[in-house]
Amino acid sequence: AKDKGRGGHEFYAAQMNAQGTERLMLESGLRRALERNELEMHYQPKMDLRTQRIVGVEALMRWRHPVLGMVSPAQFIPIAEETGLIVPMGLWALRTACAEARDWQSRGLPPVQMSVNLSVRQFASDSLVEDIAGVLNETGLNPELLELEITESVMMKSPETTAQLLQQIRRLGVGLAIDDFGTGYSSLSYLKRFPLTTVKIDRSFVNDLSQDPDSQALADGIVTLAHGLRMKVVAEGVETAEQLAYLRAHGCDEIQGYWLCKPMPAEDVCAFMARHLRT
Ligand code: C2E
Ligand code: CA
Ligand code: CA
Ligand code: CA
Repeated sequence: AKDKGRGGHEFYAAQMNAQGTERLMLESGLRRALERNELEMHYQPKMDLRTQRIVGVEALMRWRHPVLGMVSPAQFIPIAEETGLIVPMGLWALRTACAEARDWQSRGLPPVQMSVNLSVRQFASDSLVEDIAGVLNETGLNPELLELEITESVMMKSPETTAQLLQQIRRLGVGLAIDDFGTGYSSLSYLKRFPLTTVKIDRSFVNDLSQDPDSQALADGIVTLAHGLRMKVVAEGVETAEQLAYLRAHGCDEIQGYWLCKPMPAEDVCAFMARHLRT
């Protein structure tokens, strides 16, 4: 039996491609990433198009793998979601981001909104609302300064339960943004049904805004729809002055993207905000 087991293992190993190996390496590494302090949060500023002020930041997770170096969230977030590790990781991200926001204020920076991504898996955890309330309590961050970014997949999962959870989160005073808007399959009625405060126009629409009339029509439609429902509109992935000019001329409220700056470690974003105040 022992030989058979080993043979089976060898067979499997031979079959396994490089991708599979890397995937296993990431999966086992991710289990220890939190306790080994390999995760960090970076922050990408958002600018108000009317006042040109920095009014918020989005918190984005980074993983510094001891061997592989920086691993992209596009690679590790899906694994974290499949394994359920996203639940403790997401709570850590929320706590870290809120503590950081509070710290910036105590250093004399004007208050900015802190947006944190929430995975669909976190909605399956019984303690989500308590966890959020606990972090706000613990860090002393004004709930009005916290915004949670969710995707359409959250609302599709179980609309009834989700609507209730989102109501409870809103009652804490926390804002709710719908992320990557227009890329999922949710129906427009979700915008009315859920207590959302912000719509984020997905990067794919912003990308070809300056050449493509269809993308322009989509962006214009999202702005009109969102404003009609008293929601704020943020465009993500703004890289050029042309995109910025279009969005400003068409009523978008805030932008985020490489045109302004890339996501940065806390120290750098702090310095960026301080510099921006003086210009
Ligand atoms: P997302 O929530 O849509 O975040 C925006 C992504 O666009 C970020 O990628 C950001 O770095 C990138 N980005 C911002 N401006 C530009 C731009 O001008 N051009 C281009 N090409 N890209 C831009 P990032 O940091 O690699 O994150 C990828 C995704 O991973 C996020 O997409 C989000 O879905 C997920 N993610 C990241 N951090 C967390 C987290 O803490 N929790 C959860 N649940 N998901 C996270
Ligand atoms: Ca996001
Ligand atoms: Ca997004
Ligand atoms: Ca996106």
